[in-house]
Amino acid sequence: MTLTAVSKTQPPEAIDAALSAGMRVFGENRVQEAQTRWNDRRGGLAGLELRLIGPLQSNKAADAVALFDVIETLDRPKLADALAVAGARAGKPVRVLIQVNTGAEPQKAGVLPGETGQLLDHARAAGLIVEGLMCIPPAEEAPGPHFALLRKIARRHGLEVLSMGMSGDYETAIRFGATHVRVGSSLFGERKAPETPSRD
Ligand SMILES: *Cc1c(COP(=O)(O)O)cnc(C)c1O
Repeated sequence: MTLTAVSKTQPPEAIDAALSAGMRVFGENRVQEAQTRWNDRRGGLAGLELRLIGPLQSNKAADAVALFDVIETLDRPKLADALAVAGARAGKPVRVLIQVNTGAEPQKAGVLPGETGQLLDHARAAGLIVEGLMCIPPAEEAPGPHFALLRKIARRHGLEVLSMGMSGDYETAIRFGATHVRVGSSLFGERKAPETPSRD
């Protein structure tokens, strides 16, 4: 089980403290913000792994591929194609998770559960390395059934990685087989800056 430290909006001192404590796997939800935070720190850090956990626009695919080790939010064929092109240009294998909208919420990113297989086939044909699935359950529902659904879809397709669970529900997610939990506020304290909604 891997703890992904969600470092979005955290001040530099918090990041440095986490690094000193030995944390090496970090999650960020915006490409530009992550570039600012990590471009300078990247160099001397052995074993650092950066994971994109927020929505990605196709026109930022090259920047995302350059910075991130794993992109957890693949949710449409067009983005798969853009990532594949960016990876080929950069000569870098592109590792992704497919984000599944387990609650079929209209405002939420992610492919519908029934369309996961199709996107998986598309992504593999494009040359991406699909390692597993990611989900964010609806805020107002018990998360267990959503984690169970994600696990079921992953097993059906032989996928190993399950990124699920945040500060409020990571214990439940671990019971349902999470391989990666994404924890921010429980680790760093409440985020200082208000989150601006954005797609990048
Ligand atoms: C912010 C965020 C998290 C971490 O949330 P906390 O409740 O602070 O642990 C996890 N996953 C995603 C996709 C996020 O955007």
